[in-house]
Parts: sequence; structure tokens; C-alpha cells
Amino acid sequence: MLYDTHAHLDQRTFADDLPAVLERARGAGVLDVNVIGVDAASSRAIVALAAEHSKLHAVVGIQPNDVGEAQPGDWDEIVRLAAAPGVVGLGETGLDRYWDATPFEQQQDYFDRHLRLSQTTGLPFVVHMRECEEEVLAMLRSARERGPLAGVMHSYTGTAAGATEAIELGLLVSFAGMVTFKKSDALREVAVGVPLDRLLVETDAPYLTPEPVRKVKRNEPAHVAHTARFLADLRGEPFDAFAEQTTANAKRLFVPR
Ligand SMILES: [Zn+2]
Repeated sequence: MLYDTHAHLDQRTFADDLPAVLERARGAGVLDVNVIGVDAASSRAIVALAAEHSKLHAVVGIQPNDVGEAQPGDWDEIVRLAAAPGVVGLGETGLDRYWDATPFEQQQDYFDRHLRLSQTTGLPFVVHMRECEEEVLAMLRSARERGPLAGVMHSYTGTAAGATEAIELGLLVSFAGMVTFKKSDALREVAVGVPLDRLLVETDAPYLTPEPVRKVKRNEPAHVAHTARFLADLRGEPFDAFAEQTTANAKRLFVPR
């Protein structure tokens, strides 16, 4: 049994066939799926989805590339939604220098809000990091000085040293389809070095479809099975043990309330 820890199932691309998508996930042994918010509206939609489906779990927050569009009151709504049934985490949050559409200080402000809310609610946070590893680690370090951290580096593409430090700070590291891509040798080396009890898998659907189904344009939770099998082979671990441990890790971090 597998746990897709990151999917954007509220997106329009899934509006017409979500039941079939979830059926295919079950068929692939993917029982639990975290559905991830990027702004107040999507977080609201996700809490509604989680209320309809017992195996869909809500993660609410404002993505770094979306914080520039946040309206007054949106953050208050995230705080309110964080207490809703079916919510298992906060995010996605973090920092992004790749798209460069949102002032960096504003991204840092919102990342800090998610980290503080995590520390007061006990809900884990989900970190998006793109081309700003040092800045993300710096904020995690200062948050750690305030208290323990619970969270995950999602769709990780950083360095081995960064993964090691994130783990030391209390986080888990999650890999998406990118690790299966031909050019991702450096990322594969990172993935081999993450202890199995700190590792998660995800699709980041509808993005990043893994090999060998990469030609499928819209990624979906069933495909996390490909990434999991790939990682198990890469690490020389039996698939069943890998699936069992990564699912247990996810359930330990993302606790429904
Ligand atoms: Zn995402």
C-alpha cells in the first residue's frame, strides 16, 4: 500500500473524472492521498474534497508563487481552515526564486507564517523549494530555535547536504517523478542517501509524470507506484518493505484529526 503525499486534485483538469482517478489509484495500491492547497480558494476546495472522501487528506496554505495575489483575509482563512476536519498539514509553503514573480520578502513572510502556525497547531508543513536552498534552510534553522519542527521537503531537488540538514532539523524528504528522469543522476544520488524512515513519495500531480509513463501529460496518484518501485530498485530495497515504511512515515507525519 502506498501514500501519495502531494497531489493537486482540486485542479480543473481533474474536475470531470476524479472518481475514475481515485479508482485507478486504489487499483495501483495507492490508498491515501494528500491534496495540497496553493491559495485560500483552493484550500477551501480541498477541505471540501477531504470531507467527501475519507482517504483524501487536506493540506491548506498559500504557495510562495501565489502569496503576491493573496487578499486581505486570505491568511485568516488559512488559519481557520487549519482547524477543519480532514486537515493533516499546512502548505504548500516555502520559497521560489525560479519563477521570480513574487517579491522574495513577501514569500519569506508567508513561509514564516506557515512555520509559526505549524508550531502552534502541531500540523506539519510542506515545503516547496526552488533555487533557494540556503534561504530555506536558514528559515528552518531559525524556526527550529523556537521549537521542534515537523514537515517535509516536497518534490525534493536540492543537494545531499541540504537533505541531511533538513532531516537533522526534524523534516522528512519526499521525491516525485523527477527522480525517475534520465537526466536526474545527481538527484538519484541524493535519494539513495536518505534514510528509509525519513523518506516519502509523491506525484505532485498533475505535474511531473514519472517514467515509464512520462508521456502521459496529466500525472495522477496511481503513478506514485512507478516512482516508489523505481526508488526501491535504486536503493536495493524490496518493494513491499519500501512501500510499507514510506506509508508508515506518511501516516506518522500527517495525522488526521
Ligand atoms: Zn505542489
